[in-house]
Amino acid sequence: MEKVLLLIHTDNEGNLHKSMLETLTASIEAAGRLGDASLVAGVIGAGAETASGQLGGAGIKKVYTVSGDEFSVSRYSSDSAAVEAICRAAEADIVMAAGSSRLNRVLSGVAFRLDGRVDTHVTGFGDGEGLTVNRWFYRQRIIASVKRTERPWFISIDPGSFEPWSGSGEAVETCEVEVSLPDVPAVEVVGEKTPTSGEQTIKPDAEILLVAGAGWTKIQRDGALHAGEAEELIRDFLGKAQASLGGSKSMVDQASEGEAVISFMTHLNQIGQTGSTPRHRKGLATCCHGEEPHAVGWRFINERRAINLDPNCGWAQGKADVLYISDSFKVLKKVNELL
Ligand SMILES: Cc1cc2nc3c(=O)[nH]c(=O)nc-3n(C[C@H](O)[C@H](O)[C@H](O)COP(=O)(O)OP(=O)(O)OC[C@H]3O[C@@H](n4cnc5c(N)ncnc54)[C@H](O)[C@@H]3O)c2cc1C
Repeated sequence: MEKVLLLIHTDNEGNLHKSMLETLTASIEAAGRLGDASLVAGVIGAGAETASGQLGGAGIKKVYTVSGDEFSVSRYSSDSAAVEAICRAAEADIVMAAGSSRLNRVLSGVAFRLDGRVDTHVTGFGDGEGLTVNRWFYRQRIIASVKRTERPWFISIDPGSFEPWSGSGEAVETCEVEVSLPDVPAVEVVGEKTPTSGEQTIKPDAEILLVAGAGWTKIQRDGALHAGEAEELIRDFLGKAQASLGGSKSMVDQASEGEAVISFMTHLNQIGQTGSTPRHRKGLATCCHGEEPHAVGWRFINERRAINLDPNCGWAQGKADVLYISDSFKVLKKVNELL
C-alpha cells in the first residue's frame, strides 16, 4: 500500500493559505487514484500543530509537524531539513507539496537526498489508470502527462489548480518531528524591500487581470502623449475593481529605457512567454497588440476581453472573447465612472 504525504506550511500568522487546502484536495484525489493508498500530512512553520486542526475530516491518518522559531522564517537550510525529516518519518511514497515559492525552492534538493524524483507546476491529473499528473513545460506552451515508477515522487501543485478543501473539524493525530539543523549561522530578517514604488499591483487572488500594453504611453490621436492620464486611469481602475495589473513586455521595458512610463509598472508585472501566466477569472487587455501576452500570458484567464483602436489587431481578435474597437482612454474613463 502506497503512502501519500500532503506537504504544506503555515504563513507568518500561523494560518494555512488557500493554496495549502487546494493541495489537500489534490492529495485526496491522488490517494483515490492509487487505489488503497493512505494519506498523511506534514506541516511546517509557526503554529503548525494548531493549523493541523484545519485538516480534520479529510481522512488524514497522522500529521507530522515541524514548528519552533527556526522554522517560522523561510530559508533553504532549515526548510530542506524539515521536509527531509518529515518525508523520512512518514515513509512517504508520493509527496504532494503546495507549489509555494517556499516549498518549490527546496523540493528538488530533498528529492535528490532521498533518491526520489520531482515534478513541479502540476495543474491536474491525466487520464488512465494509476497516478498520472499534468504539468506544463517551455513557459506553459506544452502540456505533458507524466507517470513515474520511482519513489518517493515529489509533486508540487500550482496554486489555483484545485478547489480548496473544506470539511468538518474532526480531530487529527499529530506528532512533532525532530529536525537536526545543519551548522549554519542563523538568519535574521531585518526588513523587507519591494521593487515597486510602494504600490501592490500584483494580486494573485484578484477576480480580474488588467493588461496594459505599450499603446498607453504612445502618441495618441491628438498628437500628444498622455502617460500621466493613463497612469491615473489605470490606478483608479485597479483600486475600484480590486484588479491585478499585468503589462506587455514593450510596456515594462520602457521603464529601463527612460521613456514615459506608468510609475508602478515593473518587470514583475510582465505577462507572456518571458513573463508570467497568472490565473484570474477575467482579463481585460488594453492598448496591447503582442502575440506573447495574448497567446501565452492569457492562457489561464477564463473570460477575455480586449480594447484596441486597431480593428486588425490579429492577436486580440484571435484570443479575446470580446474585442472592443475603441479608445482605451475613453472606455476606461467610462468604466471607472460606472464602478
Ligand atoms: C523571444 C521573445 C519573447 C517575448 N516575450 C514576451 C512576453 O513575455 N510578453 C510580452 O508582452 N511580449 C513579449 N515579447 C514581445 C512581443 O512580441 C511584442 O513585441 C510585445 O508584446 C508588444 O507589446 P504591446 O502589444 O504592448 O505594444 P505594441 O505592439 O506597440 O501595441 C500597442 C497597441 O496599442 C494600441 N493602442 C494605442 N493607443 C490606443 C488607445 N488609445 N486605445 C486602444 N488601443 C490603443 C495600438 O493599436 C497597438 O495595437 C517577446 C518577443 C520575443 C521576440
